Amino acid sequence: MKLNVNDTFLKELPADSIVENSIRQVNESCYSFVNPTKTEAPEIVHVSPDVAKMLGISEEEEKSEEFLKVFTGNKIIENTTPYAMCYGGHQFGHWAGQLGDGRAINLAEINNDGKQWAIQLKGAGVTPYSRTADGLAVLRSSVREYLCSEAMYHLGVPTTRALSLSLSGDQVMRDVLYNGNPAYEKGAIVCRVSPSFLRFGSYEIFAARKDHQTLKMVVDYTLKHFYPECEPNKLGYIQFFKAVSLKTLDMIVHWQRVGFVHGVMNTDNMSILGLTIDYGPYGWLEGYDKRWTPNTTDSEHKRYAFGSQSNIGLWNLLKLANALYPLIEDAAPLEEILADYKKLYAGKYLGMMKAKIGLEENHEDDLKLIQDLETNLKRTETDMTIFFRKLSNISRDMIIAEKDEVSFLEKVSDAFYKPEELKGEALFFWKDWMNRYLKRLQQESYSDAEKKDRMDKINPKYVLRNYMSQIAIDAADKGDYSIIDELFNLLKKPYDEQPEAEKWFAKRPEWARTKVGCSMLSCSS
Ligand code: AMP
Ligand code: MG
Repeated sequence: MKLNVNDTFLKELPADSIVENSIRQVNESCYSFVNPTKTEAPEIVHVSPDVAKMLGISEEEEKSEEFLKVFTGNKIIENTTPYAMCYGGHQFGHWAGQLGDGRAINLAEINNDGKQWAIQLKGAGVTPYSRTADGLAVLRSSVREYLCSEAMYHLGVPTTRALSLSLSGDQVMRDVLYNGNPAYEKGAIVCRVSPSFLRFGSYEIFAARKDHQTLKMVVDYTLKHFYPECEPNKLGYIQFFKAVSLKTLDMIVHWQRVGFVHGVMNTDNMSILGLTIDYGPYGWLEGYDKRWTPNTTDSEHKRYAFGSQSNIGLWNLLKLANALYPLIEDAAPLEEILADYKKLYAGKYLGMMKAKIGLEENHEDDLKLIQDLETNLKRTETDMTIFFRKLSNISRDMIIAEKDEVSFLEKVSDAFYKPEELKGEALFFWKDWMNRYLKRLQQESYSDAEKKDRMDKINPKYVLRNYMSQIAIDAADKGDYSIIDELFNLLKKPYDEQPEAEKWFAKRPEWARTKVGCSMLSCSS
């Protein structure tokens, strides 16, 4: 396998001088050299052909013994020195100090077709940052990360990618519900791919330690490679912060568009490139509930619930601003950028929601129309994905002429979990909303067909519902990887009609409502 290695992070940033793989605080360095742990009986479960191609790996190489060894950590790529990155982070609102790649090991950076990619194994063994944990990952969480990062990419959401999903062949002990019932699970390794795995916490750690020299080095490195329009001076650092703020905002608007809840928006899980990163106890909205979070660890405070993601993005940006402050020494421009985020988010969110219901022109009542829609979606449990997808079938002229509100509701009725609840007040509010919506649609200039076409390009038909991953996981655990493959291929075309896959365009089955892994997830992975 011929990979074009080009390690910029290693060459341009300071390394930990200690090479022994022991748990410790790592000062004045951005990473520590560490090799993946060899595994017992590795096995490739799935490979993303697109990502392999993106990295310059041929189909033949993909099937080779060398591929298996390299991407399960059993062979080091020639001329490379794997490493774990040092970072810190705010977890659930509190500074947690040094975190770092506790179970991720970067193999190398490679260059293909003029693009730079960092490749990283998640679950490949302990590193100096493993703290009290084992550096490993289990099949369940690895299937979820592998499928979701590729699904997000095809949905058009900025994200890290995944090259491969493998079994390590080793057993890993986990207490899934943290209730004193640990059990062995199959160990797994995902190879993740991104232009960079730098996070907000990669800057916070040096600011917290008042190590402004290393802070400047890592910021200047980031500018040089990922924000070349920003010069390494005070003005450039402000522009950099503005750019990160816009990318973060854009990513979160996408999350809201597709109904994705990250679940653990700690600052160590916020990419400096505005990519969705670290797929842990994430989830997809089924009923449209802004207070919903899949993360059981957060079920009390709901800090990272669906409707809180934009505010948390802002909170995290404030922490990044604090980290960059020593290089800028002027709070006003940073505060201005944070204030702009709020305004920009409100505008972008409204635009996105309007697009979801097929509106393009601007009318003063649009905000109210969207707010009332969200209230209706919540009033009786309504499936987000099905509702928006089916809404594109509404033909405005026909229905207004007939004044047939019931036929309107019929068009979206598959989205209601309990259609019998659609009576009284709930029905009244829906009728009121649909009349206003139909009138408002009349003010748009495009045809019904054009409207449908536009809406179907932003309202996915297929998303990775939590229960779907769970079905794939349960089969994979028994050695059947066919559902992983089926979902992987289904989610490559989330906006297309795929008649043979209609069974995946359905509300969550009732058995999945309370099943662990389907409705709620812990951080145990
Ligand atoms: P996460 O919540 O997955 O983003 O992880 C937070 C921190 O804990 C990061 O520093 C991870 O590297 C570390 N971590 C999570 N799971 C493990 C594990 N099994 N072994 C070692 N470190 C871990
Ligand atoms: Mg993380």
